[in-house]
Amino acid sequence: MFDKYSVFSVLREALRGHTGWKPAWRDAEPAPQYDVVIVGGGGHGLATAYYLAKHYDVGRIAVVEKGWLGNGSIGRNTTIIRSNYMLPGNIPFYEMSLKLWEGLEQDINYNAMVSQRGVLNIYHSDAQRDAYARRGNAMRLHGVDAELLDLDALKSMVPYLDYENARFPIQGALLQKRGGTVRHDAVAWGYARAADRLGVDIIQNCEVTGIKIEHGRATGVETSRGTINAGKIGLACAGNSSRVAAMAGIRLPIESHALQAFVSEALKPLIDNVITFGAGHFYISQSDKGGLVFGGDIDGYNSYASRGNLPTIEDVCEGGMALMPMIGRARLVRHWGGIMDMTMDGSPIIDKSPVEGLYLNAGWCYGGFKATPGSGWCFAHLIARDEPHEAAAAYRLDRFARGYVIDEKGVGATPNLH
Ligand SMILES: Cc1cc2nc3c(=O)[nH]c(=O)nc-3n(C[C@H](O)[C@H](O)[C@H](O)COP(=O)(O)OP(=O)(O)OC[C@H]3O[C@@H](n4cnc5c(N)ncnc54)[C@H](O)[C@@H]3O)c2cc1C
Repeated sequence: MFDKYSVFSVLREALRGHTGWKPAWRDAEPAPQYDVVIVGGGGHGLATAYYLAKHYDVGRIAVVEKGWLGNGSIGRNTTIIRSNYMLPGNIPFYEMSLKLWEGLEQDINYNAMVSQRGVLNIYHSDAQRDAYARRGNAMRLHGVDAELLDLDALKSMVPYLDYENARFPIQGALLQKRGGTVRHDAVAWGYARAADRLGVDIIQNCEVTGIKIEHGRATGVETSRGTINAGKIGLACAGNSSRVAAMAGIRLPIESHALQAFVSEALKPLIDNVITFGAGHFYISQSDKGGLVFGGDIDGYNSYASRGNLPTIEDVCEGGMALMPMIGRARLVRHWGGIMDMTMDGSPIIDKSPVEGLYLNAGWCYGGFKATPGSGWCFAHLIARDEPHEAAAAYRLDRFARGYVIDEKGVGATPNLH
């Protein structure tokens, strides 16, 4: 049924008026029983199903999605990928993920527009430079590329920043050249198509409303389209992790917040890289269509709504103006919100749950897009083998109770205990 995408298939279809393209994946009906059911058809759920089908012999697999593929954060993020982390629990995992991005398009035969255009973290003080030098050194010790740029090097690379009159004077930047951007919704479509080709059933418009537990073991999911029995169940519900885990009686150390993204009118090519502001929460890149794509901090209150509020918009735009005042002349044409599952230490969870047969992939905060391939692979490994992949061994659920948090930058949410 499926064609391989190639220059020849594009030419063939161009000659016959694009009448021969087939649907990229089947619209599967739920079967009564699967060996593995993945809840959540976002990037992580689809990648998990793909790597399970490709590398692990686990039998029949389904991905159950309450809406349509790409409705969640996989289609709402600001598309940045990088592995410029500092702590031992994080660097090997995010570097594994970045390496998977580098070969992803060939692997899944899908153009996800992976663009390693470089990520620049700007620093504005001596103390911040020292912190970035330390981060860069930690990366290099793990074999990850990192360069500390001084002011002259940064000026020659990015001449248009406000170096003269900036409210927060710019001193230099930490550069990861292999970081960049990937077209976010293409990642969902590409993984869906590739998983479907390996026999995975992708079931959209099918909301999980309950988790069946018999004698302490998860045995299936109740859904808006009936009961689906399962040998193993993997939760990859991102912003809704705590709600779905609660169906199995599990209280996760997670709070959900909205994060907003913004796109300007299309401009001629201006920003070649991804740039993050070091004196406020603002980051920016330019899409291939010309829009400036930018974002900032999460909205400061808990919410499951995919929309944010006006004070955050003002705060993000102020951050942008402080770094590059000229963008104040561009018109903002679109913005939206997505739901972030914020853990208390800012790092994710890929682990077995306290309920046998139920596995957790959660807590991606505002950085889970870059993790998509690595997370999918490591979660598939955990589900298939019942033991953690070595790259994700630190992402245990019990670290919060034991005090072994992976507090990369103090970015965890402030717990709201009432
Ligand atoms: C504005 C914004 C900017 C971001 N920028 C970046 C960035 O630049 N770089 C980066 O690395 N990360 C970024 N992120 C974070 C990243 O997008 C997320 O961490 C990541 O996408 C979450 O994993 P996912 O793709 O599986 O989530 P999702 O796409 O949200 O997938 C979860 C799925 O679970 C489904 N689901 C929920 N409940 C149920 C249920 N009961 N039954 C069935 N299905 C259910 C949802 O419908 C959803 O489709 C950003 C996020 C946002 C919102």
